[in-house]
Amino acid sequence: MKIYCAVYPTPEDITLGIDTWIMSAEAAVRLGFFLGVFGLVALWEVLAPRRRLTVDKTVRWINNLGLVALNTLVLRLLFPAAAVGMAAFATKQGWGAFNYLDVPYGLAMVASVVAMDFVIWLQHVMVHAVPALWRLHRVHHADLDYDVTTGARFHPFEMVLSMLIKLATIALLGPPLVAVVIFEVLLNATAMFNHGNVRIPRPIDRVLRWLVVTPDMHRVHHSVEDDEANSNFGFNLPWWDRLFGTYRNQPRGGHEGMTIGIHGYRDPRQVARLPGMLALPFRGRITGYAINRREWSAPEEPGINHAP
Ligand SMILES: [Zn+2]
Ligand SMILES: [Zn+2]
Repeated sequence: MKIYCAVYPTPEDITLGIDTWIMSAEAAVRLGFFLGVFGLVALWEVLAPRRRLTVDKTVRWINNLGLVALNTLVLRLLFPAAAVGMAAFATKQGWGAFNYLDVPYGLAMVASVVAMDFVIWLQHVMVHAVPALWRLHRVHHADLDYDVTTGARFHPFEMVLSMLIKLATIALLGPPLVAVVIFEVLLNATAMFNHGNVRIPRPIDRVLRWLVVTPDMHRVHHSVEDDEANSNFGFNLPWWDRLFGTYRNQPRGGHEGMTIGIHGYRDPRQVARLPGMLALPFRGRITGYAINRREWSAPEEPGINHAP
């Protein structure tokens, strides 16, 4: 005789069900938010622009967005399961702090998002400090104007490096899957917002930049001047720069007067076009950047560049 009994889903079953749904919907959710926020910031830029653009907008947008499309393709090919797949794998294997410790779900969510944001901040400081990595990150900074498309303009090699660091962070952290999706969507949305060529009244900006990195705060980081470019590394949460001493309030030249880009790389035929952007990491010598920027009183040695 067979005995049938009702089987109720356990909390683990429910979590597994939600996780399976997240895995399948993640790409669509991210694309939806990307298009929505992009559209809103692009419209805001038309209605209340902060600066006059110097390069033809159509040319910049076609090339910057071409790079975005290429990066999406490269990342999907190399990492089809993406960051959220790594989080699922870590959960299954019991890897990472939050899979190991018995932490309340809400706390694990918030702490994961904050911790991942801190790692992104550290990574950003690192790509400025290490000359070989600055070669890659220059693609983001070589944009001669600053608008919503700048926010997604990164060399594919930097995107791959970024993804590897993110996967390692997730393996160590063991965050809930939802936290990874929230972080990805949040970072993408704030990056487009804070690269926006939009005007926000100073009193509102002053309050807002305690909560999130604002366009006026991050624009300082895109200055041609090295001391300004090596400040305000945050993309999302604004606290790291204030905590670690890299915060700078405003650019010396003012937001309308400051020059955006990098010294020595100002030819739009190179820095505003996709082939030039892809080749940029392999051009020129970079011996004078951040970690190499040292001063000493010895006479100039041949082959060593003292100038920044
Ligand atoms: Zn940077
Ligand atoms: Zn930026």
